Amino acid sequence: MSVASREKIVINQPPINPELIAENIAHVRARIAESAQRAGRQPHEVALVAVSKTKPLADVKMAYDLGIRDFGENRVQEALEKLATFCPPDLRWHMIGHVQTNKAQKVFGAFHCIHSVDSLHVAEALQRAAEKKSQVSGEDRRQPILLQVNVSGEASKEGMAPDEAPAIARQILSLPHLEVQGLMTVAPLVDDPEQVRPVFRALRQLRDRLREEVTDACWDQLSMGMTDDYTVAIEEGATIVRVGRAIFGERIKK
Ligand SMILES: *Cc1c(COP(=O)(O)O)cnc(C)c1O
Repeated sequence: MSVASREKIVINQPPINPELIAENIAHVRARIAESAQRAGRQPHEVALVAVSKTKPLADVKMAYDLGIRDFGENRVQEALEKLATFCPPDLRWHMIGHVQTNKAQKVFGAFHCIHSVDSLHVAEALQRAAEKKSQVSGEDRRQPILLQVNVSGEASKEGMAPDEAPAIARQILSLPHLEVQGLMTVAPLVDDPEQVRPVFRALRQLRDRLREEVTDACWDQLSMGMTDDYTVAIEEGATIVRVGRAIFGERIKK
């Protein structure tokens, strides 16, 4: 289980103040741009996924009206409820939490991208779900996914070990309904984000290695960096940052 999902969280928190969320988004965008520039990259090379888990749809709508188009959720049920209620054509929902294999049927095809494919087992469940769906409806879709890697090796974290990633990647690439686009990681909780720079660097290096060794996927995406560490992640090559609290405020915990 990831640190984030271990939190006991109250759902249906009160909506955020509209001025505050506007300020927050402007601040995050500015820091993304600064970090990209420091690394000699363009701000548009970094996609911002606003992590709306536990937050009411009112917050999602406010963020949407302020220009956010990518939203991340870590629980399947909550995510499916939200996307059934609010899904303008240009909004992209991302699954960033562990997908239990018995939820694969519901998850396949519902999200723009599943960041959290953490084992061959999960990938195979998604592939089977896709096959069933295409038998029923005839639609033949490919689901973009990222492979979640447990770079730090913490026992509490989901994700495959970096050493296993090339072999697992090769097997997943043989599943025709999945489209591997890159890697994702969740860094340990630390006081100073500099402490997790090596984690982000290691994910990028693993990506570079996969690019050379496993050539039939694009490996372009690196989903790394959260509220406390996204600036460091961008300096180390993140193409997607997943930011919750810096946009929507603290999640109320019990
Ligand atoms: C909750 C969560 C985030 C966002 O965390 P913040 O600290 O609120 O920015 C990012 N990624 C994953 C996988 C999460 O579960």
